[in-house]
Amino acid sequence: MSIEENIKHVLNELKEGTTLIAVSKTRNIEEMEHAYDMGIRDFGENKVQELVDKYDKFHQDVRWHLIGHLQTNKVKYIVGKVHLIHSLDSIKLLKEIQKRFKAKEAVANVLIQINIGEEESKTGIYLSEMDELIDECAQCSNVNVRGLMCIIPKGTEEENRKYFRKMNNIFQELKNRSYENISMEILSMGMSGDYKVALDEGSNMIRVGQGIFGPRNYK
Ligand SMILES: *Cc1c(COP(=O)(O)O)cnc(C)c1O
Repeated sequence: MSIEENIKHVLNELKEGTTLIAVSKTRNIEEMEHAYDMGIRDFGENKVQELVDKYDKFHQDVRWHLIGHLQTNKVKYIVGKVHLIHSLDSIKLLKEIQKRFKAKEAVANVLIQINIGEEESKTGIYLSEMDELIDECAQCSNVNVRGLMCIIPKGTEEENRKYFRKMNNIFQELKNRSYENISMEILSMGMSGDYKVALDEGSNMIRVGQGIFGPRNYK
């Protein structure tokens, strides 16, 4: 199917208030133009360098999402360019974001990435570390926590559902608390293979790459 058909198909599954991020990592500008022409304005990249390059080359009204792991030494490059950082996963990174955004009188919108499957190979904080990170976020005036993000372990639909449901429970529970600089509005979960289940379980932001652009070819 074409990029256009794929996008139509995914958009058909979305409820009002749900955002589709076209994950454009490894894709060229020409491929991305097809998505842009379909009205897509949210694009996701997992590498700072690629995001910054495309920021200069692509349309200015695009909202850029950093969905991959963010190294502290790269934060400075995305100030003023990134719309939402999905991958806050340490106090060290939080402090660097606070410092770099404050220096430019900007405010960073971030999601806390939770390693919900507690997989050693994956980034994201463990649930047991969440309260401490949230307490620190409340001290950071130039960081707004807008919600949560996760990448779940590979598994069956039933297993996927279990993790998404667990995330939604945490999200709902945090909504009932109140902190400075923290609001729980965005639950970023679901990728090409599992976004339907994620939507079922309360996701309001899905990140779809191959389901839009076709199989990825890492060169
Ligand atoms: C690559 C990536 C996606 C999209 O994956 P697809 O399988 O291509 O849909 C979503 N989220 C993150 C964090 C990614 O790195």
